[in-house]
Amino acid sequence: MNADLHCHSTVSDGQFAPAEVAARAHANGVTLWSLTDHDQLGGQEEAKKAAEALGMGYLPGVEISVTWASRTVHIVGMNVDPANEALLCGLEATRNGRAARGVAIGEALGAVGIPNCYEGALRYTDDPDMISRTHFARYLVEAGYAQSTSEVFARYLGDGKPGFVGHRWAKLADAIGWIRGAGGEPIIAHPGRYDYTPVEFAALFDEFIQLGGHAIEVVTGSHTPDQYREYADVARRYGFEASRGSDFHGAGEGRVDLGRLPPLPDDLTPVWERWV
Ligand code: AMP
Ligand code: MN
Ligand code: MN
Ligand code: MN
Repeated sequence: MNADLHCHSTVSDGQFAPAEVAARAHANGVTLWSLTDHDQLGGQEEAKKAAEALGMGYLPGVEISVTWASRTVHIVGMNVDPANEALLCGLEATRNGRAARGVAIGEALGAVGIPNCYEGALRYTDDPDMISRTHFARYLVEAGYAQSTSEVFARYLGDGKPGFVGHRWAKLADAIGWIRGAGGEPIIAHPGRYDYTPVEFAALFDEFIQLGGHAIEVVTGSHTPDQYREYADVARRYGFEASRGSDFHGAGEGRVDLGRLPPLPDDLTPVWERWV
């Protein structure tokens, strides 16, 4: 089983259309796949059709932006019903505000002498309501302000940097409620990416459990190999099921390609066991 349950298409901030991501996943040996665009289910039909045509297992997915303790956490909703009204409404409300935030990011970068970024970023997405820091990062690389998108985050777009504009996303309880209501399983995405203290992490995991959550990503393209081990230990301590996903956005971005991750440690329970 080569499960890759986290990646993105042009429907959010990926570089390839859902069917192209499916083809790449299949070519890389993925046998169970999920497209998890940010706060959007618009790619699910195309993704599922493409996966079925390739004979690859498919689980509908989404990655929801949440604000918890003043910082952004991502919650993956796995095996959700993409037609569920409450989920669709919640995601629409979550997306709301991206356009205005995009304008504010453009203004903030303009103030430090980098002009026209909003217009530049818009060239990287068809949908202004989906504008993401990733689109700004691609434009800033194109315009020569950095060599890579990760350098753009380190210098301009990360928390506390000149182009960072705070935003209030969905509440954790709401995101979990929408996912559960749509028949899905909430999974804490790439926990290693969050800048929380140990006390805050413990509070996040406790609250997640109280809200009915019991799965985290362990092996993800957004973790280093050291973090695979660290969060495998967290999964053992809390009794969490474990997920695996590349968080693939495009060629030359991110640490790993679709399906090209090490397996989960043998003793962990894969979150997908119940569906296969
Ligand atoms: P947003 O939802 O607009 O705040 O953008 C968040 C997106 O930026 C994430 O989904 C990633 O795709 C990307 N991202 C966040 N941090 C980094 C980083 N350090 N390097 C590259 N991309 C990043
Ligand atoms: Mn992204
Ligand atoms: Mn994420
Ligand atoms: Mn992601």
